[in-house]
Amino acid sequence: MSNLISKTDYLVWKDCPHNAWMKKWKPEIYNALPPSEFDQHLIDTGSMVEEEARKLYSGGIPIEGRDEGAVNKTRDLLEKKTATIYQASFSDDKLFAAVDILKQGKDGELYIYEVKASNSSRLEEGDKDIDEEHLFDLAFQVYLVRKAGYKVGAAYLVRLDKEYVRLGDIDLNKLFYSRSIDEYVEKVIPKIERDIPIMLEQLGSSKQPNGPCGCIYKGRSRHCTTFKYHNKDILKDVIDYSVHDLTAVGRSQKKLQVLIDSNVYDIAKISEEDIEMFGEKIQKQIRVHQRGKANIDFEAIRGELSKLEFPLYFLDYESFNPAIPRFDGYKPYQHIPFQFSLHKLDTIDSKLEEIEPFFYMEKGDPTPFFIDHLEKKIGRVGRIVVWNRTFEESLINKNIALRLPKYAEFINGVNSRIFDLMTIFSKQLHIHPDFHGSASIKKVLPVLCPSLSYKELEVGNGSEAMNTWNRLVTEDMTKEQKEELKQSMLVYCRLDTFAMYEIWKYLMGII
Ligand code: SF4
Repeated sequence: MSNLISKTDYLVWKDCPHNAWMKKWKPEIYNALPPSEFDQHLIDTGSMVEEEARKLYSGGIPIEGRDEGAVNKTRDLLEKKTATIYQASFSDDKLFAAVDILKQGKDGELYIYEVKASNSSRLEEGDKDIDEEHLFDLAFQVYLVRKAGYKVGAAYLVRLDKEYVRLGDIDLNKLFYSRSIDEYVEKVIPKIERDIPIMLEQLGSSKQPNGPCGCIYKGRSRHCTTFKYHNKDILKDVIDYSVHDLTAVGRSQKKLQVLIDSNVYDIAKISEEDIEMFGEKIQKQIRVHQRGKANIDFEAIRGELSKLEFPLYFLDYESFNPAIPRFDGYKPYQHIPFQFSLHKLDTIDSKLEEIEPFFYMEKGDPTPFFIDHLEKKIGRVGRIVVWNRTFEESLINKNIALRLPKYAEFINGVNSRIFDLMTIFSKQLHIHPDFHGSASIKKVLPVLCPSLSYKELEVGNGSEAMNTWNRLVTEDMTKEQKEELKQSMLVYCRLDTFAMYEIWKYLMGII
């Protein structure tokens, strides 16, 4: 059974045969890196959404495992006319698929429900609303269920409705949106039938598929975890920072191809003629790297920083965005603000003051306490310095104003006072070769203020902060354990605002 090709293997193969081959034949390399906090959060979210969706089709019998026993148990349950099965398993002698929720009609027809943690809207239903991977996922199941000798009544995608707003208990019929996509499934099944023999031959052979690793022509964000393994011989000592890291180079794929086809992987070796084919942003990144020293537009930075009126507040939020709305007034994936850190500087000569931070770990929605504390501490005058204003302004503040309209005026005032320090770097007013084309505070801080770092922190990034808070409010812990995690969270968030102050101070020092 362990040699069977699963539905997931097929989807990986469809995306890239090289990668699927690695998954099967070199799992130690394919799985070399443990899932990141962010990836783990996605996995946990998927399980939680499936668990919730089962309540829509309650009373089902769960099947455990991915083995012959699971397939046999499914067959037995279907013979006994079981109405609903979770993770019903099907296999021929080579392929395997499990169905999230399977319903059996009175006439014996099977109805397949594939639960996805993604957002959709029943109001926007159309062809573009169906993700290709979801379609092939469902079609593979239909193909295998039919091969096992059953008749399929219909195949449904079950997703979260992004327009749903929780009021009281979760209304599952409104939260979830099930859509039959049979007509699309039928169109791709012939393609699956053509794919399967090719895939079985490629994955059945211990010889790696021929041909280059196609992602050599794509930007870094499109590379899978085995990219470095496949390309270590050609990328050599630029394996961690190469032409693939030019900012948003994936959108200039033909230009990237020109470099790759000329065997130019090292940014230091891009010719003047090739530099000129890129837009201004990438050109600057390349030239800074080639010169090996920072490029600073002192006058423009002076102009930006002169907009700041005292007192200055350095502000950073932390939030958690569950797929299933946890409190009234929230939509799927809307952010729950549970923490902020705040530093204040009254005048240019003042000592930086750390304002009492906010951290909430009780049951219930933190929003009223969060915004009340903010209002008391941040006042109505002075500029508010953040890093990447979209988060504080749009994802948090605007939604708080919708949930708590009595704070709308205060929130509008806060938004109008925001100054986004990141723009100095995203607009390339200050570029340093060691930023590697990024304007993230995690990249900028250690270059400009090397004594400060996120590396040693217990909680070291936003995903860790989200997951830690979620554990704090959902898991059983001793008071001491809770206090320890709370302190780690306070240290992390405080560093974000202190880092902004230090970066601002550094910039003021050079202009
Ligand atoms: S980097 Fe791209 S082409 Fe290479 S194995 Fe991964 S997915 Fe396939």
